[in-house]
Amino acid sequence: MRILITGGAGFIGSHLADRLLDEGHSVIAIDNLATGHTRNVEHLAGHERFRFVKHDVTEYVYVEGELDVVVHLASLPSPVDYLRKPIPTLKVGALGTHKALGLARAKKALFMLASTSEVYGDPLVHPQPEDYWGNVNPVGPRGVYDESKRFAEAITMAYHRYHGLDTRIFRIFNTYGPRMRVDDGRVVTNFIAQALRGQALTVYDDGSRTRSFCFVSDLVDGILRLLESNETEPVNLGNPDEMTILEFAQAVQRLTGNETELVYVQPTDERTKDDPQVRRPDISRARERLGWAPRVGLEDGLGQTIQYFRGLLGDEAA
Ligand code: UDP
Repeated sequence: MRILITGGAGFIGSHLADRLLDEGHSVIAIDNLATGHTRNVEHLAGHERFRFVKHDVTEYVYVEGELDVVVHLASLPSPVDYLRKPIPTLKVGALGTHKALGLARAKKALFMLASTSEVYGDPLVHPQPEDYWGNVNPVGPRGVYDESKRFAEAITMAYHRYHGLDTRIFRIFNTYGPRMRVDDGRVVTNFIAQALRGQALTVYDDGSRTRSFCFVSDLVDGILRLLESNETEPVNLGNPDEMTILEFAQAVQRLTGNETELVYVQPTDERTKDDPQVRRPDISRARERLGWAPRVGLEDGLGQTIQYFRGLLGDEAA
């Protein structure tokens, strides 16, 4: 198949590109490099079935020839990024999704939307099944991301219902692994970089909020299974292994050998406003309809991620 990935030089997009190429497909990766980086795809330079195009998906996308699949991953999914760049976040979720859908429709391609657990907001139902409609504050700081993805899901379903476009929607829960940006401000990268630099880990508030962390190869497996399925309803892709941020900090300390104290920080900006108190995917649908469940445990996944950051930080890493 010939597959276009928006956000193809990003953390998840580049791993998806690797996997699709391994399976014999051709990949066109487009990325405006706002948060993605050519470093993530430089090992693919010269690959005969891979092409990288620097382009912003909020602008008209022109692609010559046929396409079988469009995977729309372009986004600014890290809270520090979307708080800093709220308007580009809304634009890529709204205008970018519209352009990517238009491209898929013109090429009669399958359209796959990367959505998010943030569509559930600060959830009142726990764990979160796909038929929960969520608890999002539209005018809060996180609203720019959450609502852009909710809009993206709505317009995807409109193209499906009105234009008969074949579509898939996957809701990604906190995913981690090599190629995350060291400065993306998320808990995984903050803690690993702090630990490797011998600094104290910054636990926001009291560390009692929960997240469930999924290793990137498991997510990519789920995306491929969804691609091969006929499932047009949204599907959660995440690891149900839930833990508090405090427990997560301790796991990073243990695996890096960092022995500094944790510091409890009360961010003064809007970083933790409307921060979901709990998050854990109900993956019954993915299990039943795709035969998918994550396989990589935290120790293994974190080990690989720590190794990547050790290489990236070089002499800075203790
Ligand atoms: N967090 C933290 N310390 C950090 C960064 C994040 O305690 O240095 C917390 C944050 O407040 C949230 C959780 O970790 O409760 C996950 O945050 P992240 O930015 O990774 O992503 P989110 O799941 O909120 O989108």
